[in-house]
Formats: sequence, structure tokens, C-alpha cells
Amino acid sequence: MEREAVILKKSKVNDWVNVMREDHTVYGPVKYKYDYHFKELEPGMEVTLEYTRSMIPPKKFLHPQEENLITYRRNDGMETTPTKFEQKQVILGVHPCDARAIEVYDEIFGGDLPDVYYWNRRNNTIIIAVTCTVPDENCFCMSLDESGPTLEKKGYDLLLTDIGDSYLVEVGSMEGSLLLQFEGLFEKATEEHMHAKDKSVEVTKMKVQRKIPDVPGLHDFLEHNYENEVWAKETKKCLSCGTCTLVCPTCFCYHVEDFNRFNLEDGNRVRIWDSCQLIDFAEVAMGENFRKDREARLKWRIYHKLAYWQEQFGTLGCTGCGRCIQYCPADIDMTEILAEIRGDKVHA
Ligand code: SF4
Ligand code: SF4
Repeated sequence: MEREAVILKKSKVNDWVNVMREDHTVYGPVKYKYDYHFKELEPGMEVTLEYTRSMIPPKKFLHPQEENLITYRRNDGMETTPTKFEQKQVILGVHPCDARAIEVYDEIFGGDLPDVYYWNRRNNTIIIAVTCTVPDENCFCMSLDESGPTLEKKGYDLLLTDIGDSYLVEVGSMEGSLLLQFEGLFEKATEEHMHAKDKSVEVTKMKVQRKIPDVPGLHDFLEHNYENEVWAKETKKCLSCGTCTLVCPTCFCYHVEDFNRFNLEDGNRVRIWDSCQLIDFAEVAMGENFRKDREARLKWRIYHKLAYWQEQFGTLGCTGCGRCIQYCPADIDMTEILAEIRGDKVHA
């Protein structure tokens, strides 16, 4: 058996969360009103691992909606104290589409000038992914490179897969294996358990019906269709609300603001999520705005994910999670837009 794995009975998941909580802050998907949200798992809270998607992806634990970067105080000069994130955190129940998005974040916030705030959090974070079993009509992960309802040997510290009354727990890192060292929770996995996982993944793949055809040809297709009339038609519906970007697991834009106290001596420098769909996003000095009209902004979002990202990183900036489709208040759906331009259908 190549893969290192154990079995966790579903009835023991909460016991496991409780022992992890002794040394970590543990987050997981919890049902709240009509949706699932990643929340800190406190005593007595039930985590739900069979869910389709959370409204806000787990990116918020690595790149929070609002984050204090430095606190400053003016004395003789300027004294600044950068924020240091030191708590250890576990994100339990991360779907493969969101785990792949975290790999995208690692690239965006890495490189020659790594973002210290991101990496402070990232290096203190353990990802416990879960193979998706309940995709819905908005998921289209099967169209994209290296996607689908499970992960192959990377992107996680531990990977859980529902195999009936238990989860198969596969190990992806040393940090992950340390979370399996608790007495009485885990049993040895057998070949039979591995086959049960493979079968479950095959069944889930069949349920993902939405698709983007000819993904390798997407870059050139978009390039040739920038002026297609479908864009103007769809733009008429867009409210420029920014929801599609805030819920997107790969969107990372932010702006930085200084908040001075009334004494004009102390303050905070804070970064806050931003959205390319808002009118002032591309505004620069003297009031010039590079994407003043809505059509340019709508196209920017989709071209950035599906074409420009390929030029920059050789991959797509979309993991097929379906959030921008589900949460857009104007029913704008990029898979439908592409299908209309191509004359295709979005469902298999
Ligand atoms: S596409 Fe939808 S979610 Fe995005 S800005 Fe327009 S109306 Fe809002
Ligand atoms: S562009 Fe839409 S489907 Fe793709 S990752 Fe972002 S929210 Fe998910």
C-alpha cells in the first residue's frame, strides 16, 4: 500500500477536534442559516464535513478581510510595531477546489518578495482537506487542469475521504501525521479502504455536470472574442457589487489604509480586501480610471482568471468552485457567457 493512511470513525470526529483544540485554533464548516461558513470550532459545536461550499472560502484565515499590518506612534521619530501572527491553526474540511486556491495564494504571496504577513499565517496553518462528495449544479472543477473532487498527493497536510461510516485519512506532511498521534482515535487502513475511496471519487466525478469545453484553447478563444456582443449584454445586468470577487478563493486584491487616532500621534496601517469590480479600483492620481466602465471590469475579472493568469503562471486562476455563479445577485455566470459566445451548452 503506497499511500500512508489510517481510518477515523465518523463518530470520533468531534473527539479528534477536541484534542486538536488543546494546541491549535481549529476552524471548520458549520451550517449557519441557509449556508455553510468556516467558523472556529468551540466546545459543543458540530463540524459538517459533507457540505457543498462555504460562502466565504477558507482563504480568510490566511488573508483576512481586514488585517492590521502595523501599529505606529509618533514620538521623536516614528515608532512602528508590525503585527506578528503566532497562533497555530488547523483548517478542517477544506475542499479540493479551495485547497488548490491556497496553492495559488502560495504562488501569489510568495516569489522573490514573499508577503511576511501571509507567510506568518501560512507557516502556522495545517490544512485538513476533505474529498468532495456533494457537488452541485454550479461546480465545474472537472473541466479544469489537475482538478476534480479529490487531491493527488499535494495541497494538504491530511486528506479525509468519506467511505461510509468512516473517513480514510491520508497523510500529506509531517505536520499532518503529528495530528494522528492520539490514542484510541485511529485504526489501520487496508487496501479495501483505499478501493472504497477510489470508488467514492469516481461516483462524485460523475455528478459534476457543468463544464467549460476546450480549456487548453481558452486563452486564444478569449483573445479573439474580446469585442463579442455577449459581453455588453451581460454587463447590463452587473451591479458592480464585487460579490463575485469577495467569495472567490483565488481573488487576493486588497488596499491599504492608515487610520490615525484623533491625537494624531497613534494609528494603524490596515489592509482590507478590495474588488476589481468596484468603480474606484483602477482609479489613479488626477482622477484617471483605467476601467471606468462596467464592461471593462466584468471582462477583466474573467480574462484575468482564464487568460492573463495563463500568461503569468501557466495555469488558470479559477478552481471551478462555483461561488461566483451561486452568489452573484444578477445571475451572471461565466460558464454561461463562454457557452453563449461559443454556441455550446454548459451541462454535459
Ligand atoms: S458579476 Fe455579479 S457578483 Fe460580480 S459585480 Fe457583477 S453583479 Fe456583483
Ligand atoms: S472564478 Fe468563480 S468558480 Fe472560479 S474559483 Fe473564483 S469563484 Fe470559484
